[in-house]
Amino acid sequence: MSGFGVLRGGGVVWRDGGDAVDLSALGPEFAQASLNPLLALGPDGWRQATEAARAHDGPRTTEPALALPFEVADYVDFNSSLEHATNMGRLFRPGADPVFPNWRRLPVAYHGRAGTVVVSGTDVVRPSGQLEAGVYGPTRKLDIELELGFVVGVPSRPGEPVPTERFVEHVFGVVLLNDWSARDVQAWESVPLGPFLGKSFQTSISAWVTPLALLDDRRVEARAQEPPALPYLAGGRDWALDLALEIELNGDTISRGNARTLYWTMPQQLAHATSNGASLRTGDLMATGTVSGPEPGSEGSLMELWRNSRFLEDGDEVVLRGRAGEIELGEVRGRIRPAENRSAGSAVQSG
Ligand code: MN
Repeated sequence: MSGFGVLRGGGVVWRDGGDAVDLSALGPEFAQASLNPLLALGPDGWRQATEAARAHDGPRTTEPALALPFEVADYVDFNSSLEHATNMGRLFRPGADPVFPNWRRLPVAYHGRAGTVVVSGTDVVRPSGQLEAGVYGPTRKLDIELELGFVVGVPSRPGEPVPTERFVEHVFGVVLLNDWSARDVQAWESVPLGPFLGKSFQTSISAWVTPLALLDDRRVEARAQEPPALPYLAGGRDWALDLALEIELNGDTISRGNARTLYWTMPQQLAHATSNGASLRTGDLMATGTVSGPEPGSEGSLMELWRNSRFLEDGDEVVLRGRAGEIELGEVRGRIRPAENRSAGSAVQSG
């Protein structure tokens, strides 16, 4: 795995394939309990930090215990895969046009819950909620969403949009992200305002943040857009990432996709998110949405892979992996624990 992380007891660590190296002695921005001071440095500081990390001969660890790598400011989840939007539209709204008219005109998104973003390795307690009219209980449709997340380092000023060509001035790097989803809760609650409790119980990210600079030679032209995007969204098309993705369930690989299939790129997502003048903060996390490819077996969620017939069981363990040539992103691991007895959701309540 390659990138920056944070030790559970504090201290920034670096890893590029081999052992993790403790950078705490390198300077004040490395003797920290989060990457936020490093994120705030900007592109020159990121380049210097990466060079210094590569050259540093600090204490080494093979499997360090890692904390959430940065303090998440705001969290936004996009919906940038045309195949995912189409598959889910068919499953949630059979018979209707699966993709709404706005979908090809703008990168659709919702604001998620920053406070429940956790680091890889954190268990997932099966959440409870309203599953349908008059029924409250543990979700019967616990699912995953394989996503890429990008992490904002440099803030922007209120009222000042960040155009696609300034993406690299603000965004430090990427993580893998699992947007755990309770599909029964989501289906019942989402009309008309979108996801809420079906998503907010937990979002897991990799412990390593991989700087964009390490992925530069994996940039490819994105697929064609029809209709063409408005001028403020027209750039950033050279920012598809050739990044192989995998879902592993209980040791078996069940899906293989690639981030390059996304319809909307990350610079387009950021440009849209700031197009009304909403400002960025250090630690903002934006996720691409589930990455599902056009071929069977490249879907990024179980609901799509198994056509709404089967979901996660208690005890299941999911690992998301991503690889761009020599660069491996941090994995995202999580095991399902049963719904907790002390909660009101331990038993199904009907009313
Ligand atoms: Mn999602």
